[in-house]
Amino acid sequence: MTTYAANFCPQCGTALVTRAVDGRERQFCPDCERVVWRNPVPCAGVAVVSDEGVLLTERAVDPGRGEWAAPGGHLEFDESLREGAARELHEEVGVRVDPDDVTPLDTFAVEQADGKRIVSVGFAVRREDTEGDPYAGPEVAAVEWLTPESFGESGEVFHPPHGERFEKAWDEFGPE
Ligand SMILES: [Zn+2]
Repeated sequence: MTTYAANFCPQCGTALVTRAVDGRERQFCPDCERVVWRNPVPCAGVAVVSDEGVLLTERAVDPGRGEWAAPGGHLEFDESLREGAARELHEEVGVRVDPDDVTPLDTFAVEQADGKRIVSVGFAVRREDTEGDPYAGPEVAAVEWLTPESFGESGEVFHPPHGERFEKAWDEFGPE
């Protein structure tokens, strides 16, 4: 399985050919006699919500450098969605949460500017159920608590479709 269209077999290095399988042209290794599937990458993230806003990050890496998003990223091979979401939250903004304490919020599947397609599962948690003061980790340029009002005034833009994740988290986990 590959994230991008492959030219060579990841197992044996042979140049791939195309072959019609299951109604589509697939990359196929003539030596291994198997399809090299191209698939989306699973991702997970957490929106932390306090009465002051939703914890958002300004991305410091492409795709979407300078755009804002809820913390999240690729799952490691052996992680559950909850574990991956909690790990990404800690890596990106230094906030810890017990994976059992996050609540499923949303899902999306999008093609990114670099041609990779991701499937993202979003969770949400109240600030009281987390630990640690947020700071901008290595992949993050800035971190802030933002409401729809304050984000609108900032003139910043979301890394799509994180605007919807943000709105849903605020609606369902923000103050009454
Ligand atoms: Zn091969």
